[in-house]
Amino acid sequence: MPKPQIVILGAGPAGLGAAYQLARHKFADVVVLERNPMVGGNAGSHLVAGMPVDFGSHRLHPSCDPEVLADIRELLGDDLMDRPRHGRIRLQGRWIHFPLKPADLAFHLSPSFSLGVLQDTAKKLVGYGKRTSEEQNFATVLSGGLGETITREFYFPYARKIWGLDPEELSPVQGKRRVGANSIAKMFRKALSGISAKKNTGKGRFYYPRFGFGAIAEAYHYAARRAGAQVLLGADVQAVDTCDAQIMGVRYMYQGQERSVPADHVWSTIPLTVLTNLLLPRPPRHLLDAARSLEFRSMILIYAVLAQPRFSEYDAHYFSEEFIPITRLSEPKNYCGGYGPRNRTVLCAELPCSSDDAVWKMTDESLGELLKDSLAKAGIPIQAPVQQIVTRRLRYAYPIYRKCYEEPFRELDRLIGGVGGLLTFGRQGLFAHDNTHHALYMAYSAVKCLDADGRFDLCKWQAFRQIFETHVVED
Ligand SMILES: Cc1cc2nc3c(=O)[nH]c(=O)nc-3n(C[C@H](O)[C@H](O)[C@H](O)COP(=O)(O)OP(=O)(O)OC[C@H]3O[C@@H](n4cnc5c(N)ncnc54)[C@H](O)[C@@H]3O)c2cc1C
Repeated sequence: MPKPQIVILGAGPAGLGAAYQLARHKFADVVVLERNPMVGGNAGSHLVAGMPVDFGSHRLHPSCDPEVLADIRELLGDDLMDRPRHGRIRLQGRWIHFPLKPADLAFHLSPSFSLGVLQDTAKKLVGYGKRTSEEQNFATVLSGGLGETITREFYFPYARKIWGLDPEELSPVQGKRRVGANSIAKMFRKALSGISAKKNTGKGRFYYPRFGFGAIAEAYHYAARRAGAQVLLGADVQAVDTCDAQIMGVRYMYQGQERSVPADHVWSTIPLTVLTNLLLPRPPRHLLDAARSLEFRSMILIYAVLAQPRFSEYDAHYFSEEFIPITRLSEPKNYCGGYGPRNRTVLCAELPCSSDDAVWKMTDESLGELLKDSLAKAGIPIQAPVQQIVTRRLRYAYPIYRKCYEEPFRELDRLIGGVGGLLTFGRQGLFAHDNTHHALYMAYSAVKCLDADGRFDLCKWQAFRQIFETHVVED
Protein backbone atom coordinates (compact mmCIF):
# COMPACT_ATOMS: atom_id res chain seq x y z
CA MET A 1 0.00 0.00 0.00
CA PRO A 2 1.60 3.37 -1.00
CA LYS A 3 2.04 5.82 1.85
CA PRO A 4 -0.09 8.99 1.74
CA GLN A 5 1.62 12.28 0.93
CA ILE A 6 1.08 14.77 3.76
CA VAL A 7 1.99 18.41 3.20
CA ILE A 8 2.39 20.35 6.43
CA LEU A 9 2.07 24.14 6.39
CA GLY A 10 4.33 25.86 8.93
CA ALA A 11 7.45 24.69 10.77
CA GLY A 12 6.60 25.87 14.26
CA PRO A 13 6.33 23.29 17.07
CA ALA A 14 2.96 21.99 15.76
CA GLY A 15 4.15 21.44 12.19
CA LEU A 16 7.50 19.95 13.18
CA GLY A 17 6.00 17.76 15.91
CA ALA A 18 3.65 16.24 13.32
CA ALA A 19 6.44 15.88 10.73
CA TYR A 20 8.67 14.04 13.20
CA GLN A 21 5.94 11.67 14.37
CA LEU A 22 4.78 10.88 10.83
CA ALA A 23 8.30 10.37 9.47
CA ARG A 24 9.75 8.31 12.34
CA HIS A 25 6.83 5.84 12.21
CA LYS A 26 6.92 5.80 8.37
CA PHE A 27 3.20 6.65 8.26
CA ALA A 28 3.49 9.07 5.35
CA ASP A 29 5.73 10.91 2.91
CA VAL A 30 6.08 14.31 4.51
CA VAL A 31 6.78 17.73 3.04
CA VAL A 32 6.89 20.76 5.37
CA LEU A 33 6.55 24.24 3.87
CA GLU A 34 7.76 27.14 6.02
CA ARG A 35 7.84 30.74 4.84
CA ASN A 36 10.62 31.87 7.23
CA PRO A 37 14.29 31.04 6.68
CA MET A 38 14.33 29.38 10.13
CA VAL A 39 12.15 26.93 12.04
CA GLY A 40 10.32 27.40 15.33
CA GLY A 41 7.67 30.00 14.50
CA ASN A 42 6.89 32.10 17.56
CA ALA A 43 8.72 29.51 19.68
CA GLY A 44 12.00 29.88 17.76
CA SER A 45 15.25 31.55 18.83
CA HIS A 46 17.73 33.81 17.05
CA LEU A 47 21.09 35.38 17.87
CA VAL A 48 21.50 38.91 19.19
CA ALA A 49 25.11 39.96 19.85
CA GLY A 50 26.14 36.32 19.90
CA MET A 51 23.46 35.29 22.42
CA PRO A 52 20.53 32.99 21.65
CA VAL A 53 17.32 34.89 22.46
CA ASP A 54 13.65 33.94 22.14
CA PHE A 55 10.63 35.82 20.78
CA GLY A 56 9.70 36.98 24.28
CA SER A 57 9.89 34.92 27.45
CA HIS A 58 9.43 31.21 26.64
CA ARG A 59 9.53 28.30 29.08
CA LEU A 60 8.61 24.66 28.74
CA HIS A 61 6.07 23.99 31.46
CA PRO A 62 6.25 20.76 33.49
CA SER A 63 2.56 20.16 32.75
CA CYS A 64 3.69 19.03 29.28
CA ASP A 65 2.12 15.73 28.19
CA PRO A 66 4.47 12.89 29.34
CA GLU A 67 4.83 11.37 25.86
CA VAL A 68 5.81 14.74 24.38
CA LEU A 69 8.15 15.50 27.31
CA ALA A 70 9.85 12.12 26.96
CA ASP A 71 10.57 12.89 23.28
CA ILE A 72 11.87 16.37 24.05
CA ARG A 73 14.13 14.89 26.74
CA GLU A 74 15.42 12.30 24.34
CA LEU A 75 15.99 14.82 21.55
CA LEU A 76 17.74 17.41 23.73
CA GLY A 77 19.49 15.14 26.23
CA ASP A 78 21.54 17.10 28.81
CA ASP A 79 20.77 20.36 27.04
CA LEU A 80 17.29 20.39 28.59
CA MET A 81 17.73 22.14 31.91
CA ASP A 82 15.37 22.07 34.88
CA ARG A 83 15.33 25.64 36.22
CA PRO A 84 13.71 27.44 39.16
CA ARG A 85 11.41 30.31 38.25
CA HIS A 86 12.65 33.59 39.58
CA GLY A 87 10.56 36.48 38.35
CA ARG A 88 8.77 39.43 39.83
CA ILE A 89 5.64 41.45 39.28
CA ARG A 90 5.27 45.19 39.66
CA LEU A 91 2.04 45.87 41.49
CA GLN A 92 1.01 49.33 42.73
CA GLY A 93 4.63 50.45 42.52
CA ARG A 94 5.90 47.51 44.60
CA TRP A 95 7.69 44.37 43.51
CA ILE A 96 6.51 40.92 44.47
CA HIS A 97 8.17 37.65 43.65
CA PHE A 98 6.69 35.41 40.94
CA PRO A 99 5.84 32.65 41.80
CA LEU A 100 4.44 34.24 44.91
CA LYS A 101 6.19 33.53 48.21
CA PRO A 102 4.19 33.60 51.45
CA ALA A 103 6.39 36.42 52.79
CA ASP A 104 5.27 38.61 49.88
CA LEU A 105 1.74 38.57 51.21
CA ALA A 106 2.80 39.83 54.58
CA PHE A 107 5.54 42.27 53.66
CA HIS A 108 5.37 43.33 50.03
CA LEU A 109 1.72 43.96 49.17
CA SER A 110 0.16 47.22 50.29
CA PRO A 111 -2.19 46.86 53.29
CA SER A 112 -5.09 48.24 51.19
CA PHE A 113 -4.48 45.56 48.53
CA SER A 114 -4.36 42.73 51.07
CA LEU A 115 -7.47 44.05 52.83
CA GLY A 116 -9.30 44.35 49.49
CA VAL A 117 -8.47 40.75 48.62
CA LEU A 118 -9.64 39.53 52.03
CA GLN A 119 -12.93 41.40 51.61
CA ASP A 120 -13.36 39.94 48.11
CA THR A 121 -12.75 36.44 49.46
CA ALA A 122 -15.37 36.99 52.18
CA LYS A 123 -17.89 38.24 49.59
CA LYS A 124 -17.24 35.19 47.45
CA LEU A 125 -17.86 32.89 50.41
CA VAL A 126 -21.31 34.37 50.98
CA GLY A 127 -22.09 34.31 47.23
CA TYR A 128 -22.31 38.10 46.93
CA GLY A 129 -22.36 39.50 43.37
CA LYS A 130 -23.04 36.26 41.44
CA ARG A 131 -24.00 36.91 37.81
CA THR A 132 -26.20 35.14 35.35
CA SER A 133 -24.57 33.56 32.30
CA GLU A 134 -26.08 36.23 29.96
CA GLU A 135 -23.98 38.92 31.62
CA GLN A 136 -20.72 37.02 31.32
CA ASN A 137 -17.60 38.45 29.76
CA PHE A 138 -13.90 38.36 30.64
CA ALA A 139 -14.37 41.08 33.26
CA THR A 140 -17.25 39.35 35.06
CA VAL A 141 -15.59 35.93 34.96
CA LEU A 142 -12.36 37.24 36.43
CA SER A 143 -13.83 39.51 39.05
CA GLY A 144 -16.33 36.76 39.99
CA GLY A 145 -13.54 34.23 40.38
CA LEU A 146 -10.69 36.31 41.72
CA GLY A 147 -12.36 39.30 43.31
CA GLU A 148 -12.36 42.94 42.30
CA THR A 149 -9.09 43.98 43.90
CA ILE A 150 -6.79 41.62 42.02
CA THR A 151 -8.60 42.11 38.75
CA ARG A 152 -8.78 45.90 39.04
CA GLU A 153 -5.18 46.35 40.16
CA PHE A 154 -3.47 43.67 38.12
CA TYR A 155 -5.41 41.73 35.53
CA PHE A 156 -7.59 44.39 33.88
CA PRO A 157 -4.79 46.84 33.07
CA TYR A 158 -2.60 43.90 31.98
CA ALA A 159 -5.41 42.60 29.75
CA ARG A 160 -5.89 46.03 28.15
CA LYS A 161 -2.22 46.07 27.21
CA ILE A 162 -2.06 42.45 26.04
CA TRP A 163 -5.24 42.42 23.94
CA GLY A 164 -5.80 46.11 23.32
CA LEU A 165 -9.43 45.85 24.49
CA ASP A 166 -11.38 46.64 27.61
CA PRO A 167 -12.02 43.51 29.72
CA GLU A 168 -15.78 43.90 29.08
CA GLU A 169 -15.16 43.52 25.32
CA LEU A 170 -13.49 40.12 25.75
CA SER A 171 -15.25 36.77 25.68
CA PRO A 172 -15.76 34.88 28.96
CA VAL A 173 -13.69 32.10 27.35
CA GLN A 174 -10.62 34.27 27.83
CA GLY A 175 -11.26 34.25 31.54
CA LYS A 176 -12.53 30.70 31.95
CA ARG A 177 -10.08 28.67 29.93
CA ARG A 178 -7.21 30.94 29.16
CA VAL A 179 -6.39 32.28 32.59
CA GLY A 180 -4.62 29.26 33.86
CA ALA A 181 -4.15 27.32 37.01
CA ASN A 182 -0.60 28.58 37.02
CA SER A 183 -1.43 32.10 35.89
CA ILE A 184 -0.59 35.17 37.83
CA ALA A 185 -4.21 35.74 38.80
CA LYS A 186 -4.84 32.23 40.13
CA MET A 187 -1.52 32.33 41.88
CA PHE A 188 -2.67 35.31 43.93
CA ARG A 189 -5.85 33.52 44.88
CA LYS A 190 -4.07 30.32 45.84
CA ALA A 191 -1.46 32.10 47.85
CA LEU A 192 -4.01 34.28 49.55
CA SER A 193 -6.14 31.30 50.45
CA GLY A 194 -3.13 29.83 52.20
CA ILE A 195 -1.98 27.30 49.62
CA SER A 196 1.63 27.85 48.76
CA ALA A 197 2.29 27.67 45.02
CA LYS A 198 5.32 25.56 45.84
CA LYS A 199 3.22 22.67 47.10
CA ASN A 200 1.96 21.89 43.61
CA THR A 201 4.08 19.52 41.58
CA GLY A 202 6.23 21.23 39.03
CA LYS A 203 5.08 24.71 40.02
CA GLY A 204 7.90 27.16 40.48
CA ARG A 205 10.11 25.30 37.99
CA PHE A 206 10.38 25.07 34.24
CA TYR A 207 12.40 23.33 31.55
CA TYR A 208 14.63 25.33 29.31
CA PRO A 209 17.11 24.28 26.60
CA ARG A 210 20.67 25.42 27.27
CA PHE A 211 20.92 27.28 23.92
CA GLY A 212 17.50 28.93 23.77
CA PHE A 213 13.87 27.78 23.62
CA GLY A 214 14.11 27.45 19.84
CA ALA A 215 16.38 24.43 20.34
CA ILE A 216 13.20 22.36 20.91
CA ALA A 217 11.89 23.14 17.42
CA GLU A 218 15.37 22.74 15.95
CA ALA A 219 15.72 19.31 17.52
CA TYR A 220 12.34 18.24 16.06
CA HIS A 221 13.43 19.69 12.72
CA TYR A 222 16.66 17.67 12.52
CA ALA A 223 15.00 14.52 13.82
CA ALA A 224 12.19 14.82 11.25
CA ARG A 225 14.71 15.29 8.43
CA ARG A 226 16.80 12.36 9.62
CA ALA A 227 13.62 10.28 9.56
CA GLY A 228 12.99 11.27 5.93
CA ALA A 229 10.74 14.35 6.07
CA GLN A 230 11.44 17.09 3.56
CA VAL A 231 11.46 20.55 5.17
CA LEU A 232 11.57 23.54 2.83
CA LEU A 233 12.50 26.83 4.50
CA GLY A 234 11.65 30.04 2.66
CA ALA A 235 8.63 28.34 1.09
CA ASP A 236 5.71 30.79 1.26
CA VAL A 237 2.38 29.04 0.77
CA GLN A 238 0.26 30.90 -1.79
CA ALA A 239 -2.73 28.62 -2.42
CA VAL A 240 -4.33 25.40 -1.20
CA ASP A 241 -6.05 23.72 -4.15
CA THR A 242 -9.23 21.73 -3.67
CA CYS A 243 -11.60 20.04 -6.09
CA ASP A 244 -15.10 18.84 -5.16
CA ALA A 245 -14.34 19.56 -1.50
CA GLN A 246 -11.25 17.34 -1.59
CA ILE A 247 -7.66 18.45 -1.12
CA MET A 248 -5.52 18.36 -4.29
CA GLY A 249 -2.26 20.12 -3.50
CA VAL A 250 -0.45 23.25 -2.42
CA ARG A 251 1.16 26.06 -4.36
CA TYR A 252 4.03 28.00 -2.85
CA MET A 253 6.79 30.48 -3.74
CA TYR A 254 10.27 29.08 -3.32
CA GLN A 255 13.50 30.71 -4.46
CA GLY A 256 11.55 33.23 -6.55
CA GLN A 257 9.47 30.65 -8.41
CA GLU A 258 5.95 29.36 -7.98
CA ARG A 259 5.96 25.62 -7.36
CA SER A 260 3.32 23.08 -6.46
CA VAL A 261 3.16 19.84 -4.57
CA PRO A 262 0.31 17.29 -4.76
CA ALA A 263 -1.16 16.18 -1.45
CA ASP A 264 -3.45 13.50 -0.06
CA HIS A 265 -3.61 15.48 3.16
CA VAL A 266 -2.76 19.08 4.00
CA TRP A 267 -2.10 19.67 7.68
CA SER A 268 -2.07 23.39 8.29
CA THR A 269 -0.57 25.15 11.32
CA ILE A 270 -0.63 28.63 9.76
CA PRO A 271 -3.24 31.11 11.03
CA LEU A 272 -6.76 29.81 10.39
CA THR A 273 -7.72 33.16 8.89
CA VAL A 274 -4.80 33.03 6.44
CA LEU A 275 -5.62 29.44 5.45
CA THR A 276 -9.22 30.45 4.69
CA ASN A 277 -7.95 33.09 2.29
CA LEU A 278 -5.58 30.65 0.56
CA LEU A 279 -8.29 28.10 -0.28
CA LEU A 280 -9.10 27.68 -3.96
CA PRO A 281 -11.83 27.83 -5.14
CA ARG A 282 -12.39 30.85 -2.86
CA PRO A 283 -14.84 30.29 -0.01
CA PRO A 284 -18.12 32.28 -0.12
CA ARG A 285 -17.99 35.93 0.94
CA HIS A 286 -19.62 35.42 4.37
CA LEU A 287 -16.79 33.01 5.29
CA LEU A 288 -14.13 35.47 4.15
CA ASP A 289 -15.93 38.05 6.32
CA ALA A 290 -15.86 35.60 9.22
CA ALA A 291 -12.08 35.26 8.70
CA ARG A 292 -11.73 39.05 8.73
CA SER A 293 -13.58 39.29 12.03
CA LEU A 294 -11.15 36.99 13.85
CA GLU A 295 -8.23 39.09 14.98
CA PHE A 296 -4.73 38.39 16.23
CA ARG A 297 -2.81 40.72 18.51
CA SER A 298 0.70 41.53 17.31
CA MET A 299 3.84 42.05 19.31
CA ILE A 300 7.17 43.83 18.94
CA LEU A 301 10.18 42.36 20.74
CA ILE A 302 12.74 45.00 21.66
CA TYR A 303 16.20 43.61 22.46
CA ALA A 304 18.77 45.85 24.15
CA VAL A 305 22.40 44.73 24.29
CA LEU A 306 23.96 46.11 27.47
CA ALA A 307 27.66 46.43 28.31
CA GLN A 308 27.34 44.70 31.67
CA PRO A 309 27.47 41.03 32.68
CA ARG A 310 23.95 41.02 34.15
CA PHE A 311 21.06 43.49 34.40
CA SER A 312 19.26 41.81 37.31
CA GLU A 313 18.96 38.45 39.04
CA TYR A 314 15.41 37.92 37.69
CA ASP A 315 14.41 35.90 34.67
CA ALA A 316 11.32 38.04 33.99
CA HIS A 317 9.67 41.22 35.25
CA TYR A 318 5.91 41.64 34.64
CA PHE A 319 4.36 45.10 34.30
CA SER A 320 0.63 45.51 34.66
CA GLU A 321 0.38 49.30 34.95
CA GLU A 322 -0.80 51.02 31.79
CA PHE A 323 1.68 53.91 32.00
CA ILE A 324 4.40 51.32 31.28
CA PRO A 325 3.64 50.16 27.72
CA ILE A 326 5.68 46.92 27.82
CA THR A 327 4.12 43.89 29.51
CA ARG A 328 7.20 41.85 30.29
CA LEU A 329 10.98 42.16 30.34
CA SER A 330 13.15 39.05 30.26
CA GLU A 331 16.89 38.53 30.48
CA PRO A 332 17.72 35.44 28.37
CA LYS A 333 21.01 34.82 30.21
CA ASN A 334 19.04 34.13 33.39
CA TYR A 335 16.95 31.43 31.68
CA CYS A 336 19.89 29.28 30.73
CA GLY A 337 22.00 29.62 33.87
CA GLY A 338 24.29 32.41 32.63
CA TYR A 339 25.28 31.07 29.20
CA GLY A 340 26.57 33.85 26.92
CA PRO A 341 29.30 36.48 26.60
CA ARG A 342 30.93 37.43 29.91
CA ASN A 343 30.68 41.21 29.68
CA ARG A 344 27.39 41.59 27.87
CA THR A 345 23.79 40.80 28.53
CA VAL A 346 20.64 41.17 26.43
CA LEU A 347 17.22 42.35 27.60
CA CYS A 348 14.04 41.42 25.74
CA ALA A 349 10.94 43.61 26.18
CA GLU A 350 7.49 42.56 24.96
CA LEU A 351 5.38 45.35 23.48
CA PRO A 352 1.89 44.19 22.42
CA CYS A 353 0.34 46.25 19.64
CA SER A 354 -1.79 46.05 16.55
CA SER A 355 -0.19 45.61 13.13
CA ASP A 356 -2.14 48.61 11.87
CA ASP A 357 -1.26 51.07 14.62
CA ALA A 358 1.56 53.61 14.75
CA VAL A 359 3.62 51.55 17.23
CA TRP A 360 4.06 48.77 14.63
CA LYS A 361 5.88 51.25 12.36
CA MET A 362 8.19 52.76 14.99
CA THR A 363 11.90 52.79 14.23
CA ASP A 364 14.38 50.71 16.23
CA GLU A 365 15.78 53.91 17.70
CA SER A 366 12.36 55.06 18.97
CA LEU A 367 11.59 51.58 20.31
CA GLY A 368 14.92 51.63 22.15
CA GLU A 369 13.91 54.95 23.75
CA LEU A 370 10.49 53.50 24.63
CA LEU A 371 12.21 50.59 26.38
CA LYS A 372 14.58 52.86 28.34
CA ASP A 373 11.69 55.11 29.31
CA SER A 374 9.53 52.15 30.40
CA LEU A 375 12.28 50.78 32.65
CA ALA A 376 12.98 54.21 34.13
CA LYS A 377 9.25 54.57 34.95
CA ALA A 378 9.30 51.11 36.52
CA GLY A 379 12.17 52.17 38.77
CA ILE A 380 14.74 49.87 37.15
CA PRO A 381 16.56 52.23 34.76
CA ILE A 382 19.20 50.94 32.37
CA GLN A 383 22.49 52.28 33.68
CA ALA A 384 25.06 50.50 31.52
CA PRO A 385 25.87 51.66 27.97
CA VAL A 386 23.38 50.30 25.40
CA GLN A 387 25.51 48.76 22.63
CA GLN A 388 22.71 47.83 20.25
CA ILE A 389 18.93 47.81 19.85
CA VAL A 390 17.44 45.01 17.75
CA THR A 391 13.73 44.45 17.13
CA ARG A 392 11.56 41.63 15.82
CA ARG A 393 7.86 41.71 14.95
CA LEU A 394 5.32 38.94 15.47
CA ARG A 395 2.26 39.64 13.36
CA TYR A 396 0.35 36.70 14.89
CA ALA A 397 1.19 36.72 18.60
CA TYR A 398 -2.11 36.16 20.45
CA PRO A 399 -5.59 35.24 19.19
CA ILE A 400 -8.01 37.90 20.44
CA TYR A 401 -11.12 36.40 22.01
CA ARG A 402 -13.39 39.33 21.38
CA LYS A 403 -16.94 38.77 22.69
CA CYS A 404 -18.87 36.62 20.19
CA TYR A 405 -15.71 35.44 18.37
CA GLU A 406 -17.05 31.89 18.80
CA GLU A 407 -19.52 32.01 15.89
CA PRO A 408 -17.07 33.10 13.14
CA PHE A 409 -14.57 30.58 14.53
CA ARG A 410 -17.15 27.79 14.29
CA GLU A 411 -17.99 28.82 10.71
CA LEU A 412 -14.35 28.57 9.64
CA ASP A 413 -13.91 25.34 11.55
CA ARG A 414 -16.88 23.88 9.63
CA LEU A 415 -15.44 25.16 6.35
CA ILE A 416 -12.08 23.43 6.93
CA GLY A 417 -13.78 20.30 8.30
CA GLY A 418 -15.80 20.10 5.08
CA VAL A 419 -12.72 19.69 2.86
CA GLY A 420 -11.57 16.07 2.66
CA GLY A 421 -7.89 15.73 3.61
CA LEU A 422 -7.61 19.21 5.16
CA LEU A 423 -6.79 19.63 8.83
CA THR A 424 -5.91 22.67 10.91
CA PHE A 425 -4.22 22.64 14.30
CA GLY A 426 -1.61 24.42 16.43
CA ARG A 427 -1.92 27.76 18.18
CA GLN A 428 -2.65 29.73 15.02
CA GLY A 429 -4.50 26.90 13.30
CA LEU A 430 -7.10 26.42 16.03
CA PHE A 431 -7.10 30.05 17.19
CA ALA A 432 -6.03 28.77 20.59
CA HIS A 433 -4.06 30.84 23.08
CA ASP A 434 -1.95 27.78 23.83
CA ASN A 435 1.55 26.91 24.97
CA THR A 436 4.16 25.06 22.92
CA HIS A 437 3.50 21.76 24.68
CA HIS A 438 -0.18 22.08 23.74
CA ALA A 439 0.74 22.68 20.08
CA LEU A 440 2.96 19.59 20.19
CA TYR A 441 0.21 17.56 21.85
CA MET A 442 -2.16 18.55 19.02
CA ALA A 443 0.44 17.39 16.48
CA TYR A 444 0.90 14.03 18.21
CA SER A 445 -2.89 13.65 18.42
CA ALA A 446 -3.31 14.31 14.69
CA VAL A 447 -0.81 11.54 13.90
CA LYS A 448 -2.74 9.15 16.16
CA CYS A 449 -5.83 9.76 14.01
CA LEU A 450 -4.18 8.43 10.85
CA ASP A 451 -5.13 4.78 10.35
CA ALA A 452 -3.10 2.04 8.64
CA ASP A 453 -4.80 2.75 5.28
CA GLY A 454 -3.71 6.39 5.41
CA ARG A 455 -7.26 7.54 6.22
CA PHE A 456 -7.86 10.22 8.82
CA ASP A 457 -10.26 9.20 11.60
CA LEU A 458 -12.41 12.29 12.11
CA CYS A 459 -14.30 10.82 15.09
CA LYS A 460 -11.05 10.23 16.92
CA TRP A 461 -9.97 13.78 16.04
CA GLN A 462 -13.20 15.21 17.46
CA ALA A 463 -12.49 13.36 20.70
CA PHE A 464 -9.00 14.92 20.79
CA ARG A 465 -10.51 18.33 20.07
CA GLN A 466 -12.52 17.95 23.29
CA ILE A 467 -9.26 17.42 25.15
CA PHE A 468 -7.71 20.50 23.50
CA GLU A 469 -10.66 22.48 24.90
CA THR A 470 -9.36 21.74 28.39
CA HIS A 471 -5.90 23.21 27.71
CA VAL A 472 -5.12 26.19 29.87
CA VAL A 473 -2.30 28.54 28.94
CA GLU A 474 0.49 29.10 31.48
CA ASP A 475 2.42 32.37 31.82
C1 LIG B 1 5.38 36.48 23.65
C2 LIG B 1 5.07 35.02 23.69
C3 LIG B 1 5.48 34.26 24.79
C4 LIG B 1 5.21 32.91 24.84
N1 LIG B 1 5.65 32.17 25.92
C5 LIG B 1 5.48 30.84 25.93
C6 LIG B 1 6.01 30.05 27.00
O1 LIG B 1 6.62 30.55 27.94
N2 LIG B 1 5.84 28.71 26.95
C7 LIG B 1 5.18 28.10 25.93
O2 LIG B 1 5.07 26.86 25.94
N3 LIG B 1 4.64 28.82 24.91
C8 LIG B 1 4.78 30.17 24.89
N4 LIG B 1 4.27 30.91 23.85
C9 LIG B 1 3.46 30.23 22.84
C10 LIG B 1 4.30 29.55 21.76
O3 LIG B 1 5.09 30.48 21.09
C11 LIG B 1 3.31 28.85 20.82
O4 LIG B 1 2.50 27.96 21.55
C12 LIG B 1 3.96 28.08 19.71
O5 LIG B 1 4.81 28.86 18.93
C13 LIG B 1 2.84 27.51 18.82
O6 LIG B 1 3.39 26.73 17.81
P1 LIG B 1 2.62 26.54 16.43
O7 LIG B 1 3.47 25.65 15.61
O8 LIG B 1 1.22 26.17 16.69
O9 LIG B 1 2.55 28.01 15.76
P2 LIG B 1 3.75 29.01 15.30
O10 LIG B 1 4.91 28.90 16.21
O11 LIG B 1 3.12 30.34 15.14
O12 LIG B 1 4.16 28.43 13.88
C14 LIG B 1 3.41 28.67 12.71
C15 LIG B 1 4.38 28.68 11.53
O13 LIG B 1 3.65 28.86 10.31
C16 LIG B 1 4.44 29.65 9.44
N5 LIG B 1 3.60 30.27 8.38
C17 LIG B 1 2.63 31.20 8.50
N6 LIG B 1 2.12 31.52 7.30
C18 LIG B 1 2.76 30.76 6.39
C19 LIG B 1 2.67 30.62 4.96
N7 LIG B 1 1.80 31.33 4.22
N8 LIG B 1 3.50 29.74 4.35
C20 LIG B 1 4.38 28.99 5.07
N9 LIG B 1 4.51 29.08 6.43
C21 LIG B 1 3.71 29.96 7.07
C22 LIG B 1 5.03 30.70 10.39
O14 LIG B 1 6.18 31.35 9.80
C23 LIG B 1 5.38 29.84 11.61
O15 LIG B 1 6.70 29.34 11.53
C24 LIG B 1 4.49 32.28 23.79
C25 LIG B 1 4.06 33.04 22.69
C26 LIG B 1 4.34 34.40 22.64
C27 LIG B 1 3.86 35.21 21.46
